[in-house]
Amino acid sequence: MKKWLFLGIALYSTQLAAFPRANPVPGGIAVLPVAPLSDKLPIVQYAGKRVTVVPQGDQWQALIGLPLDAEPGTQRLLVSGKPLEFEIKNKQYRTQRIRITDPNKVTPDEESSERIVRELNIQKQVRSRFSATTQPDLNFIRPVPGRDTGSFGLRRIINELPRNPHSGMDIAAPTGTPVKATAAGRVIHVGDFFFSGNSVYVDHGSGVISLYAHLSQTRVKPGDTLLQGDVLGEVGRTGRATGPHLHWSIYLNGEAVDPALLL
Ligand SMILES: [Zn+2]
Repeated sequence: MKKWLFLGIALYSTQLAAFPRANPVPGGIAVLPVAPLSDKLPIVQYAGKRVTVVPQGDQWQALIGLPLDAEPGTQRLLVSGKPLEFEIKNKQYRTQRIRITDPNKVTPDEESSERIVRELNIQKQVRSRFSATTQPDLNFIRPVPGRDTGSFGLRRIINELPRNPHSGMDIAAPTGTPVKATAAGRVIHVGDFFFSGNSVYVDHGSGVISLYAHLSQTRVKPGDTLLQGDVLGEVGRTGRATGPHLHWSIYLNGEAVDPALLL
């Protein structure tokens, strides 16, 4: 056990710069110490889902993904079955108005609506995957070069109709730009979705999932193991997109969080 503790500290020192920034707001990450670092990984749950737990210093730290529609106030976590309270602070995201020329991408017809419901179920399952065996590498890189558009969480009004808030970071880049895995992981889903177009989901372990959407081409298949920086596809504008860009999302306990907190 002593040896393990030493390993934990060594891990900590190499990952210090890479630890996510805590920002306990809707769409942010709450970081909470949940137990002294020992060889037993605590089981932490939030809203019925397993939460990512990583070593930092002499503590196990829970990284809780907070839903974009979470109510500010006191929230409850279960640590090995025992309740632990924490606070969600308020955050007002800006509103963005977008024009989409394809009306079916704004108010989908019946056939498209059925497809959307089917795809939502698949995506919900994929985003909530929890592989307890792998500790995530949180030393993330930007999947394509380009600036942070600051677009995470924007409340979107598309063709004058209020739509879901933006669940990722958009990075503008020309069609065909190689898209790289933000960290090592395993490809868990490759699909063509109504809204997100050609998409790749990568499982980084312990409930940390990344999504790369609107790709013109995908270059991987489910089960592929990726190293950080491996090319998984190319930038495009498939699905609902106003122009070529990468939509990049990070999910913790199934909830989309601001990817900028992990850079
Ligand atoms: Zn986007």
